[in-house]
Order: sequence, then structure tokens, then C-alpha cells
Amino acid sequence: MMRKYFTYILLFGFPLFGCQNRPAEKSDYQKNWTLLEQENESIAFDADIKLSDAEKVLDEQLFQLRKQFLTETNKQKIPLFNRSFNEIKPLIEGNKLFEIFQSMPKGGLLHTHSGGITDVKWIIATARKYKECYVYDGTDNDQFIFGQLAFFEEGKEAKGFVSLNKKLLSDPGFEKKLADLLILKRDNLCTYTDYWIEFEKRFKRISLLLPYRPFFKEYYTKGFQDLVKNNVQHVEIRFIFDELYDFQHGKYPLKTSITDLQEVVKEIRKLNPQFSLKLIYSSFKFLDSKSIEKQLEIAFELKKEFPDTISGFDLVADEAAGNSVYSFRENWMKLDELSKKYGVKMPLFLHAGESNSVFNKNILDISSLDNPRIGHGLNLIYFPKTMELIRKQNKLVEVSPISNQILGYVSDLRNHPARVLLSNGIQCSINSDDPSVYGYEGLGYDFWVAFVAWELDVKALKKLVFNSISYSSLNESEKKKALLYLDRQWNDFVQKMNGKLK
Ligand SMILES: [Zn+2]
Repeated sequence: MMRKYFTYILLFGFPLFGCQNRPAEKSDYQKNWTLLEQENESIAFDADIKLSDAEKVLDEQLFQLRKQFLTETNKQKIPLFNRSFNEIKPLIEGNKLFEIFQSMPKGGLLHTHSGGITDVKWIIATARKYKECYVYDGTDNDQFIFGQLAFFEEGKEAKGFVSLNKKLLSDPGFEKKLADLLILKRDNLCTYTDYWIEFEKRFKRISLLLPYRPFFKEYYTKGFQDLVKNNVQHVEIRFIFDELYDFQHGKYPLKTSITDLQEVVKEIRKLNPQFSLKLIYSSFKFLDSKSIEKQLEIAFELKKEFPDTISGFDLVADEAAGNSVYSFRENWMKLDELSKKYGVKMPLFLHAGESNSVFNKNILDISSLDNPRIGHGLNLIYFPKTMELIRKQNKLVEVSPISNQILGYVSDLRNHPARVLLSNGIQCSINSDDPSVYGYEGLGYDFWVAFVAWELDVKALKKLVFNSISYSSLNESEKKKALLYLDRQWNDFVQKMNGKLK
């Protein structure tokens, strides 16, 4: 035994000699490893953020809270990441991190739609107060579907419609039934496959409700109040313009939607002067180029009259079923001409790459167009050259994690493509898309999901939050004010949370 030890010393030297006082020299392997780690970090989207000491303390706290939560769910054998949002929603709500994300200032909500902003339970409770509100109680036909809501003058209701309030009073189970018809749930990840058909039915059921002018005003007042309560200071809506109407005056011109919304915002600003709104004129990908030409003219006319409210143009609807962005190239080629004619610019905010398929090439158009923000961009990761261009052009991808899972593009949220985008230096923001249709309000759930499933830290959270103002359509002076406000709110939040979590 002893001899063996001496042989060892002769061959390799006494193990403690030489390394007792000076630190071990790092091998090239170690040096390269550290360098590569730094190089990767320097490419990431949040590389320019330096945390203050207080933010570092919060970062550690949030890290521990997530660790505790994951250890606990692990212990209970809950397959957290393989469940639908609907299944884990109660778990999220019971978790301390959720409370923190609810109170976190979130900057702007850059991607949401006019039909998906306000809580469904509120919609039912408010609609029933109007004696002229009816619900379709018949079987689906070409015109109406079961559970569709509409306003009619007394005695003039279409066949199959019954008074909403009377129906709710006579059938105690109907309120829940109706709420289920307005919310798109995946009870588990394989509930059904026709997501878009079910999704669009939800919009159809409230589509006749929103243009009724008295309801319209109430709907947006409630929507904006909820956002303010959720610490969202700015919102940009993909807005489908419809002529508002009431029974005294009949139809109003399109611009009434804008002037009414400006009134609503004015009211909100009395108590919350930081709140701001922009509308992105939205039409549909299933229309043809001729119709889009007309839509663009209308959008330009409105923007000329309301340059501070209308920010740009988008085409929505299921990308798999609609026309490609490229098929509208003639329309896009005319944008400069239209800009000259109306004296305003019309940037595009196209939904592109809301798909898992490489055959969907909508994302390719983005780098050639004046399209500062991209809706979803899920399949961007399959087009590396375009990804590089979009990074260099500093365009932002509006990510909506929960929407992407509910509509079947991502099952396990750990594998969301946004993680690839973020680590490749593509700027992103967090959005809720159509929260009321998915059965929730605010932006807290989406931030919770991103933080837990994507292993984010405070640096990443801060960048995502600030991006939502930096890449908003606010003009330079509005943006400056909004960033100042957000910065104050953010520092307050960090301070308060550190006090609370001590
Ligand atoms: Zn959308």
C-alpha cells in the first residue's frame, strides 16, 4: 500500500504541493467554456440590461419562489408543463408569483383584438340589463349560431331569438352554458382539434353586440379599467371597424368608433393620466386583393383625420385558411403612393408566422415591408436568414404564450419558439391576444407562464416590459413620457416587493 503511494508521488507529485498557495491555472477548455457562455449571453435580447442592487435582490427572491413552486408541484407529481392553461389556471392563481406579476407594472399591451378584451361574465351581466338584448336559442343556421347575442327593437327580433334576461331567469343553468360558449377552453391538451372554428364562433357570438353604441362604450370602459387595474398603461388594439348604431339614430359613420373611444380614454385619464390607446386598423386575410385595396383607402382616410389614434394596418384570421401576405403584394406596393396622397404613413403590424409549418412563408414578407412589429412570428425560427434580418432591422415580435397554447401551436410551454428568438437577440414583448375568449383578464397570467416555463430572470422581465413601450406606436414625446412613468413605477415595484418578500 505504502509503496503504491510513493510510486504515485514519484509519478504525479505530492497532491498538495504546488497548489497550496496559488490558484489553479484554468485550462484552455475552461477558458473557452467561460468565453462561450459570455458570448452566448451577449447575443441575447436582454444583454443591454444592467440590474441595480435592488433588482438583483428581487431576482434572487423570484428565483427562489419559482424553485419552491416547482419543487412542490414535483412532489405532488403534477405534470405542470404538459397541461393546458385551463388545467393549471387555479395553480397559477394560488401561487405567490402570480400576485407579484399582477402587481408588476407591465408597460403596454401591444397585441390584443377588439372582440377579446373584456371579461365574458361581465359581458353577460351587462348585456342582460338592456331589455333590447336577445340571445339566439335555435339551432345553428347560415346566419346565426346558438348562443349568439344581438340587439333588436321590441317586437322586431329575428326568428329564434329570445330575451336574454328572460332566458337567464327561466333557465338557471343557462348563464354558465353561455359563458362556456363565449370562452375557448382546452380542458386538456387534446380536447379538440378544430381550434380556429371554435375560436371564430366565440367572436361571432358577440359580433352583433359590440357595434351597439351604448354597449360599445360600456365594453371599452370596462376593458380599459381592467387593464389599468392590472398595471398596463398603454394598449394597442387590432381594431375591426364597424358602423356603430342605436335605435334612435340608426347607423353612425365609421369614425364614431374613434371619437367614442377617445371620449372613453378621456374619462379613464381623469384618474389615470398615464393611460393611452392606439388602434391598428384590421381587416381579414380571407378577403381578396381588391377588397384590401378598399380597406387600405378607408384606413388611410381615418388615419389622416386621426393621426394620433390610428397607428397602422393589419390582416387577421387563421393563416392556414387565409391568403398569404405575399398574395397582397400589389397592395403593399401601393402604400407609398397612398402615403403621398393622404400625407400620412401607414406602417404594417401584420400577423405573420402564427403557424408551425415551414410552408407558411408569411414571415418572409416582413423584412421587405415597413412592418415594425410582427404578430406571433412562431415559425420565424425555421427561417434563419429572415430571423437575422429581423434582428438587424430591430423589429419586435409580439408573443402571446397562452393564446399559442390554446390555439394548438405549442403544447409544452417550455418549448415555445420565443425562447429561441430571445436567445438569438430578437426583441419581443408579452401579450394576451384575446384574453376574454381564453377566460382571463390582464397580462399577469402570460408573464407568469413565460417566467416559469422559460426560466426567465428579472433582467429578461424588465426588458420585455420596457420593450412594450419602446416598440409601441406612441410618438416620440408620448413615448418619452410613458417611459419615464414606467421607470418610476418599476422602481417602486422593485422596492415594494423587496420589502414584502424579506
Ligand atoms: Zn392576434
